[in-house]
Amino acid sequence: MKYVILMGAPGAGKGTQARLLEAALHLPQVATGDLFRHNLKNQNRLGQLAQSYMDRGELVPDDVTVDMVRERLSQPDCATGAILDGFPRTLAQAVAFDSLLAELNGRICVVPYIHVDVDVLVARLLQRAAIEGRADDNEETIQKRMVVYQQQTTPLLDYYREKGALVQINGDQPVAQVQQDLLHAVAMGSQ
Ligand code: AMP
Repeated sequence: MKYVILMGAPGAGKGTQARLLEAALHLPQVATGDLFRHNLKNQNRLGQLAQSYMDRGELVPDDVTVDMVRERLSQPDCATGAILDGFPRTLAQAVAFDSLLAELNGRICVVPYIHVDVDVLVARLLQRAAIEGRADDNEETIQKRMVVYQQQTTPLLDYYREKGALVQINGDQPVAQVQQDLLHAVAMGSQ
């Protein structure tokens, strides 16, 4: 089983790129934000719990998130691996994912880091708010998500850099070019 972990700030284009990669790699996109939104729509316990955190731009607790990912990755469509979008987002999640990999006998193929300057990111998120109407794409929550990203998720860049898995990609390019760079990084990681 092989896993591609897409890293990048909110608005860097992880979702768009993960959806394109799905077809090219024949691996499903597993986006924790989408999974939480799906549970929220169904108004189940997990959704209700996640909502309070999402509305504030904070992270859902690690144990809840890791359990949800573990469950998702055990489904048949993930039998050969997955493209992880928005997970892991904390060091604790990354460590838990390493244990899960050992259980699944899987390996991280590559960790592409889609880098975009912060002012470009905020402008993109505000634009997405206008188009998609996502509840957590208002200016206050966006600022909060950026702070949370800086504090809790950026340490993962070093974590994966030290493992030799991180590849930085310029995310401020046309979508097709970013995709091409990603495919190149995956091909290198698969060797
Ligand atoms: P996203 O769609 O990836 O921007 O995620 C939307 C929201 O879902 C985040 O602001 C968090 O509240 C929650 N979320 C998504 N992924 C995670 C994760 N790996 N850990 C904790 N919370 C998450």
